[in-house]
Amino acid sequence: MSRALITGGVGFLGSHLCDRLIEEGHEVVCLDNLSTGRIDNVAHLGGHDAFRFIKQDVTEYLYIDGPLDYVLHFASPASPVDYQRLPIQTLKVGSLGTHKALGLAKAKGARFLLASTSEVYGDPLIHPQREEYWGNVNPIGPRGMYDEAKRFAEAMTMAYHRYHGLDTRIARIFNTYGPRMRPNDGRVVSNFINQALRDEPLTVYGDGLQTRSFCYVSDLVEGLYRLLMSDEVNPVNVGNPNEFTVIELAHMVLKSIGGQSAGSTALTTGIEICPLPLDDPRVRQPDIGLARAKLGWEPKVQIAEGLVLTIEYFRKQLEGSS
Ligand code: NAD
Ligand code: UDP
Repeated sequence: MSRALITGGVGFLGSHLCDRLIEEGHEVVCLDNLSTGRIDNVAHLGGHDAFRFIKQDVTEYLYIDGPLDYVLHFASPASPVDYQRLPIQTLKVGSLGTHKALGLAKAKGARFLLASTSEVYGDPLIHPQREEYWGNVNPIGPRGMYDEAKRFAEAMTMAYHRYHGLDTRIARIFNTYGPRMRPNDGRVVSNFINQALRDEPLTVYGDGLQTRSFCYVSDLVEGLYRLLMSDEVNPVNVGNPNEFTVIELAHMVLKSIGGQSAGSTALTTGIEICPLPLDDPRVRQPDIGLARAKLGWEPKVQIAEGLVLTIEYFRKQLEGSS
């Protein structure tokens, strides 16, 4: 049986990865400081022989008993609301935390996977984004603490690969959604669904014509697992190339919730136009040619289906909290 450490393991993506690795027969050590993740996300794994949780900050010295075959570094605030609320922690977890996680992987002879992001492309000047593109990032803008931390993390990962011969993988993850997101994480999918469920207007920033490409979490986890098991050292985009404007997303959420609720109240909640945040990327779409060729992977879940599953999750969460 092989053994994996997942930093940020109680977060949205980390917790789904814990499930997937356990399903595949790996033992999982989940390390998290609970800053943006919820322990509820892994409550179902409590008591499982193959699962262990350690509450720790990954920027501090890491001591893990026993062997490790994989280190998956997912710890980091991930939504604009979270990383702007925790700017120094974001820079520290991307830099010091990545250094500690790489050092641990080296000491254990483990393969290392970095959760990087489409934000390394910044407000992109080429479209769709291919891995060769170096990006257009404002280092001192409101997204700088996240974008530059992840760019540093990629550089550090490649340095460990080249200098120490560490076996490394880099996933450039594009916008992902699904169950276990926090209702208040500020991400557009969580906001729109929770606003519609509470019968509030959907807050569209700017003209709503900026685009994103949304990947359902089960597809993303499949792509990440294949990348982990592959021999691809260079960064690989993992995301769904189906691109929508934010306004289109708002209408899809309203339609989906309206179609599901008896009174169709959500359909009348409407849309509220709010200011566009500084440096908000105008477009974003992954070119997944590399993932298709090297991992034999592409997403399968269409947005309509993924939204229904996510709405169902948030509806239950709201019912549970009322
Ligand atoms: P999340 O906030 O749900 O999970 C992050 C987890 O990391 C949380 O459980 C948090 O408590 C933990 N954490 C943060 N700082 C820590 C520290 N110093 N020590 C230990 N634990 C710490 O976010 P997520 O969406 O699951 O994102 C996971 C990773 O994937 C992040 O690295 C993020 O940058 C990356 N990513 C996510 C997306 C997406 O759409 N979800 C897109 C691109 C990249
Ligand atoms: N957005 C929006 N309303 C919201 C939250 C976000 O219009 O309530 C927009 C935001 O300006 C951005 C897009 O939705 O253009 C995606 O935002 P998110 O915070 O989910 O992540 P990003 O891709 O910007 O990191």
